[in-house]
Amino acid sequence: MSTIKVVNLTKKFGDFVAIDGMNLEVNKGEIHAICGENGAGKSTLMNMLFGLLKPSSGQIFINGIEMHFQSPKEAIAQGIGMVHQHFKLVPSFTVYENVLLGEEIVKGFKIQRNTEYKEVQKTIDHYKFDLDANAKVQDISVGAQQRVEIIKMLHRNVDILILDEPSAVLTPQETDELLDNLIALKKLGKTIIIITHKLDEVKKCADRITVIRRGKYIGTVNNEGVTQQEIARMMVGRDVNLDLQKVEIERGK
Ligand code: ADP
Ligand code: MG
Repeated sequence: MSTIKVVNLTKKFGDFVAIDGMNLEVNKGEIHAICGENGAGKSTLMNMLFGLLKPSSGQIFINGIEMHFQSPKEAIAQGIGMVHQHFKLVPSFTVYENVLLGEEIVKGFKIQRNTEYKEVQKTIDHYKFDLDANAKVQDISVGAQQRVEIIKMLHRNVDILILDEPSAVLTPQETDELLDNLIALKKLGKTIIIITHKLDEVKKCADRITVIRRGKYIGTVNNEGVTQQEIARMMVGRDVNLDLQKVEIERGK
């Protein structure tokens, strides 16, 4: 069963239809890339899955149950986390303090500082992230700051992690480290959705790829069966002759 199912989802901003009858299925434990040109609606779609935006119409199912998230807090409680392109960290705070920011809202209670620190360290160790819990965020690299954002979500036990253009702020080496981390998270059973238009990254890490164009669902393909050029063509709207025995493709209904 798909862990996320989006059916006929639409988001309007005034008269402008940013997401138009979108369908999407994300399987448990896969790395699913969402590809589309700038302005295609990738962030809008994911912000609805994370409870930041309310759909105008349509349905979102998580593990078969329909959701009506009113806030990210509610999405996190259902196991969905998101890391944005622009971090929301406090530079003068330590890594572990940043991980815990907002924790009391999520958990509904606050525990002892020493215990909190140990709990965060445990999470970092569990996922084998290269991160010093005691370092100040202002003193660590951009790649490490992004790992703080990821750990912040994992510390809240999310099963599904959405990353919105995570490599946009990273060096090529940091990008490779990120992709390694995502592949490791997948091996631990997490479901990853990565928004990007960098197709070399997609080829390196994704199991499946969904292409959207001008707010519309174009198709979902297996990474193994497509070339970067074919994905690029789907993104810009040129015809592609995909071998349907090699790839799975579902046209929007
Ligand atoms: P992508 O992430 O694929 O680059 P977005 O989801 O950010 O695209 O935006 C899709 C379209 O919706 C764009 O045309 C953008 O200008 C528009 N849009 C996004 N957010 C808003 C908003 N809050 N109000 C009005 N238009 C918006
Ligand atoms: Mg975007």
